Amino acid sequence: MTVEQIASLWTFFATAQETHALRLGAAFVLGSILASFVTLCAERRAAGQGIVRPGSCCSHCHQPLSVLQLLPVAGWLLQGGRCALCRAPIPWRYPVLEAGLGLILVALCQAWGWTTAFLVHVPVLCLLLFLALIDWLTLRLPDRITYLTLVCVLAGKSVAVLTGPATGTLASLLSQLFSMLTAGGLTALFLFLVGRMARQRLNREGMGLGDVKLGLVLGALLEDLVPASLALASLLALAATRLGLPCWAGQTREAKAARDAEQAQVSGSLGQGRNADAAHAFGQVRESGQSTTSVVAFGPYLVLGCLCTLVAQALMP
Ligand SMILES: [Zn+2]
Repeated sequence: MTVEQIASLWTFFATAQETHALRLGAAFVLGSILASFVTLCAERRAAGQGIVRPGSCCSHCHQPLSVLQLLPVAGWLLQGGRCALCRAPIPWRYPVLEAGLGLILVALCQAWGWTTAFLVHVPVLCLLLFLALIDWLTLRLPDRITYLTLVCVLAGKSVAVLTGPATGTLASLLSQLFSMLTAGGLTALFLFLVGRMARQRLNREGMGLGDVKLGLVLGALLEDLVPASLALASLLALAATRLGLPCWAGQTREAKAARDAEQAQVSGSLGQGRNADAAHAFGQVRESGQSTTSVVAFGPYLVLGCLCTLVAQALMP
């Protein structure tokens, strides 16, 4: 098959009316496969394991999983939500995350088709999902992944501007970059001030620097839609805290304190204290008469608010 043939086949898939359903189906399959992989990466990283080894296995009976069992969403449904070998329940978060990213890509594909704008959003959404999961599991946002996401947002949107149908000049690219960085900077500043205010006024641990850096990414991605996204994120976090929704990692203040102490020891031995980022949590719930205090990571809600806003914007007529 020649390059021209591949190009014309791609154009037919990406633009023809007949392949519309196929495009949406492909977007769902792509999203669910990527969500499955991203979940695996986040859980392995949180557990301090490698990505390739050990191979995928049941977390209960440790038997390796077959290809059928590994299928995103369908694997969970076919097994009735239980391991085929030992009948231990498989957490519902797997099919929910897989179907969730699949449906988000279907919505974006419906709005934009398989265009450059759609394709550049795919890695960004995967990285945001990874950040949300790793924050939920470890109460920490790794700087390197946050900055990588920012680079992907800036590069992706620049490519979309340069290859877009209307504008493609250097001036339009520079103005796009300027407005993205301004929105990102203002969002980060806003989150920093809110975090500081929460610490001073409410005497509770506010947003950490990890959330502030994530704000830079969300501002650059959403630009003028970021206030709506932040409002939604705050509502979702508040609702989850009030309802006492179970956090799957079962994070507690004690667990966090133990982890921070361990981190301080490691940093101390390296001769540098990097505990500024350790103060990364939001919404401590202190119930009177109880000594336990749960800490809710704010990052997952920031990402959830961002994803909902992105989908709403794409589907808006
Ligand atoms: Zn099993």
